[in-house]
Amino acid sequence: MVANDTRTPAALTAGRSLPARIGYDSSMADRLERYRGKRDPGATPEPAGDAHAALPEGTRRFVVQEHHARRLHWDLRLEHDGVLASWAVPRGIPPGPERNHLAVRTEDHPLEYLDFHGEIPAGQYGAGTMAIWDRGTYEEHKFRDDEVMITFHGERVRGRYVLFRTKGDDWMIHRMDPPEDPEREPMPEELAPMLARTGPLPPDDGRWAFEIKWDGVRAIAFVQGGRLILKARSGRDITPRYPELRPIAAALAGREVVLDGEVVAFDGARPSFQKLQSRMHLTSEHAVRRLAREDPVSYIVFDLLYLDGRSLLDLRYDERRAKLAELELSGPTWQAPAHHVGDGAALLEATRAQQLEGVIAKRLDCPYLPGRRTQGWVKVKNICSSDVVVGGWLPGEGNRAGRLGALVIGIPDDDGVLRYAGRVGTGFTEAELVRLGSLLEPLARVDSPFSGRQPPKLTRFVEPQLVARVDYNERTQAGTLRQPSYKGLRDDVAPADVRLG
Ligand code: MN
Repeated sequence: MVANDTRTPAALTAGRSLPARIGYDSSMADRLERYRGKRDPGATPEPAGDAHAALPEGTRRFVVQEHHARRLHWDLRLEHDGVLASWAVPRGIPPGPERNHLAVRTEDHPLEYLDFHGEIPAGQYGAGTMAIWDRGTYEEHKFRDDEVMITFHGERVRGRYVLFRTKGDDWMIHRMDPPEDPEREPMPEELAPMLARTGPLPPDDGRWAFEIKWDGVRAIAFVQGGRLILKARSGRDITPRYPELRPIAAALAGREVVLDGEVVAFDGARPSFQKLQSRMHLTSEHAVRRLAREDPVSYIVFDLLYLDGRSLLDLRYDERRAKLAELELSGPTWQAPAHHVGDGAALLEATRAQQLEGVIAKRLDCPYLPGRRTQGWVKVKNICSSDVVVGGWLPGEGNRAGRLGALVIGIPDDDGVLRYAGRVGTGFTEAELVRLGSLLEPLARVDSPFSGRQPPKLTRFVEPQLVARVDYNERTQAGTLRQPSYKGLRDDVAPADVRLG
């Protein structure tokens, strides 16, 4: 009775003589023909498939190899009829029944491949690093050409699964049992970032941690099965814009993680929102790839919201931070910089000296409250900047005559009513003026979108759909921004979500 045997394969074979198997050699040669056809035995350390490593009849072994090839995937191999029936599973073995994963049938592999791990040289088929992710035995309930039902007894994967063919070599793998871990929570697919209010440094600063405020685009990273999905505040999937951030998923291979952070374009040592602008609005895939290579952005990680089947939202800030530190996130385009407990004034002074935007104070005992702007996180700024809603524009004078001269801006109050906040006439490049002109034209409307105090008479009103970022000197009693300067448009924030600061 092997079905429920959880001993290791080595223990199962020890001291036993291998049974004679009629027709073994000729059938093996046929089954491994595709395998051998793809490989040069002198050039790859992979087994050639000529050793007779069969086990007693009925004992079935499996292996899952994590294969860092051109694209990360996991190779599932089941011992069957003297070879290893194999599938490449791009997102790995699903831990729960809620999501099926694609499994692409690949050529049968020789039994010696059960133990294979190492480096497949560049230029060879499947070049890259292969590591053993799990191995053990399995029970076979069904083994047909289009459906395989099994129960794994591995170190990491245990339970009943079914593989079923959908089309050609495409199969799906589905977990039939409840999750191995009964308390496992599925990874969320959406999560709105927690927001900070603007204010002064907190007086009781021993209860607070301080982080540098990075001026970029807020993004939540969902990493699962070696794949990254990056979502902006608006919920929009912005993954395709930043291909240089994708390797973070391979670095976290085999883990399920949701991170909170900021996509930042550095100009020297300082983040440049203007520079990031040029990346936000690219439409050509070719241009995205070129800039990703020549001038990559960075993902600055400052929070950990989900880890391997557990939501961390209810943990305190310092507890989440401790778990984030354990992940040791550090790569060519991603970092998780340290936070500083207490002494906020010193960090604020340091950011001022480096002309950085400011700091964010986060209460050590504060849980993560998605989508909420709370007292637990406070932005303390050296430079006044704000997102604003474009509600109209004024024609220019001189060399801008007849064209866009200034944006007429507003900021929604706490009730979401758009209040006039001034006009912005500086900070535009020539190209940006042309682009803004063409974006504003189809938004024209007759009446004013502002409530209460109104902008200058010559204003051409538009639907309040564009969100811009501006720096300014101060805010007047009447609520207008003094000397605002345009930094760029942002499409990661919805007009209704804009607040001062
Ligand atoms: Mn592979």
